[in-house]
Amino acid sequence: MQPVDADHHLNVITSTAFDLESVDSTCGLALIDKEAQILSANTAFFHLLDSSADHLGKSVLSVTNNIDPSATKRLRQILFRDQCGFYDLTSKTDKKVLRLHISGFRQPFRLLLLENASINKQLTYGNGCIAGNNSVISSLVDKNALNALISEWKPSGSDDSLATIMIGLDGFKQVNETIGRANASQLLNFVAQRLLRVSRSSDTVAYYEGDTFVILQTNQAQPSSATATAERIVELLQRPFLIDGQQINISASIGLATAHSENDTAGNLTKHAELALFEAKNNARGSYQWFERNLEKKIQEQQELEVSLRRALFLQEFELFYQPQASMQSKALVGFEALIRWNRPIKGRLSPHSFIALAENLGEIQKIGKWALFTACKEASAWPGTLKVAVNISPKQFENGNLVETIKAALTASGLKPERLELEITEGLLIKDIQNTIKQLWAIQALGVSVAMDDFGTGYSSLNYLNSFPFSKIKIDQSFVRGKQTDKSRALVKAVISLGLALKIQTLAEGVETKQQFDYLAANGCMEAQGYYIGKPVPAHKVRMFVNSFQFNSCNKDLC
Ligand code: C2E
Ligand code: MG
Ligand code: MG
Repeated sequence: MQPVDADHHLNVITSTAFDLESVDSTCGLALIDKEAQILSANTAFFHLLDSSADHLGKSVLSVTNNIDPSATKRLRQILFRDQCGFYDLTSKTDKKVLRLHISGFRQPFRLLLLENASINKQLTYGNGCIAGNNSVISSLVDKNALNALISEWKPSGSDDSLATIMIGLDGFKQVNETIGRANASQLLNFVAQRLLRVSRSSDTVAYYEGDTFVILQTNQAQPSSATATAERIVELLQRPFLIDGQQINISASIGLATAHSENDTAGNLTKHAELALFEAKNNARGSYQWFERNLEKKIQEQQELEVSLRRALFLQEFELFYQPQASMQSKALVGFEALIRWNRPIKGRLSPHSFIALAENLGEIQKIGKWALFTACKEASAWPGTLKVAVNISPKQFENGNLVETIKAALTASGLKPERLELEITEGLLIKDIQNTIKQLWAIQALGVSVAMDDFGTGYSSLNYLNSFPFSKIKIDQSFVRGKQTDKSRALVKAVISLGLALKIQTLAEGVETKQQFDYLAANGCMEAQGYYIGKPVPAHKVRMFVNSFQFNSCNKDLC
């Protein structure tokens, strides 16, 4: 057999599946060759040994020697006599005990597995290995130490800078609730490991608080270096994590700020990075944002918006508008959709797009949604005939479990017949705790209230949900209807209408703005339409007038 050199091994290893670098684990894993050189290792391996990936390609004994010189002789014997087994290393500094398992692998490679025996007394290759502990997190620089580092920083030259990369995990609170605290802390550990992996040895990786980490970069060309790191982090944290047998997907948003002089730093740098992170989260999950001066004003306005949203209900600043829905066959009005508006003093009337998501995040949507339900039922009870009212329900309203009682109470208080009430839900609703949601939907249906699926076609699993619950109506999202029609959007609309016919579910097209759109939908069997072609949303006091003067295809310009 030809002798094979270490460089060659390294190439082989890194070009094959034996790349251990990306393995998330609280156990250290390393692959070594017959010379005991480290060919591949994960972050935990170096981290447990108080070392860094700079040792890749060097002898494993140089790393173990660093923390426990007394072990070197015995380890050398095990490694070079091709023995298997384990050996306990005791750190000369903090006395932590690390158990190093040495396994045979495909000759001439050996696989090393390293565990913190001080934490896991019951060592096993199974659960002991993945038992939650905060070893990586707790060994990172903490918030106080980070602030001290920032305030002590002095530029070493005129082009030196200090960059702060603040990383916040998106939706960590929900993940925490879903996977439990132990698994969530495991997830933080793995995130920390991945951050260590992307950082240079000159960077400082800190655990800031909650789901937030900070990487400090000095002596790098900015903003290019921090930007490149941020891009790499976004990409790396988007890759799934495997925890307790479950695949966990998260993303991270990143705020970036840089200081060029000592005056920039004191207290400001982390605040600037926080503001940038806040903005990144507002823009899109999994994005990064550099601090800009105008952010301070923008974020102040956002905070004011939050404060006034919390008071808006009490100050009676909400109002419902009603948008007509018409039958395509008889061309008669069949009902109205209730659409909330916020009449904000000085600022004017705000559309739900600018505050519903915020109300959901602030936990205000329960109260606002209840108000909308009670108000819509009360106002609709005064409408003539059997006109229905459709009310949008936020997924969050299903979470505290008393939606059914609220609906009952709204019907009783208003005297509205249940068959005149329809709830509109989007498929986002069904993603979380599907069983519990479906149970509530059945209870709502048992009251005689119908349920429509709103914005059909915009999510991922509409079809699956249609299979789980007998929706009375599919509302075809306006993005397929209004604007310029393409062969593709026409084909999609046609397919949804056929689906409705086959499943015996009514179809309503949203966003019908022109006669041409209306005629195409009617010719293809769509049953109902909503959109500016029928009428724009009107305030409650104009509904009766709208109904009385309604003539199909002549939207009353005074009312609209
Ligand atoms: P949605 O339920 O899909 O409501 C339809 C939206 O499309 C409304 O916007 C409506 O004004 C607009 N629209 C209707 N026809 C046309 C048209 O022909 N052309 C165009 N360009 N737009 C049209 P709005 O009132 O801004 O509501 C936006 C979204 O806010 C609603 O979408 C709904 O998801 C949510 N929403 C509204 N009211 C409530 C509420 O009381 N509670 C909750 N949770 N969400 C609400
Ligand atoms: Mg709707
Ligand atoms: Mg819709």
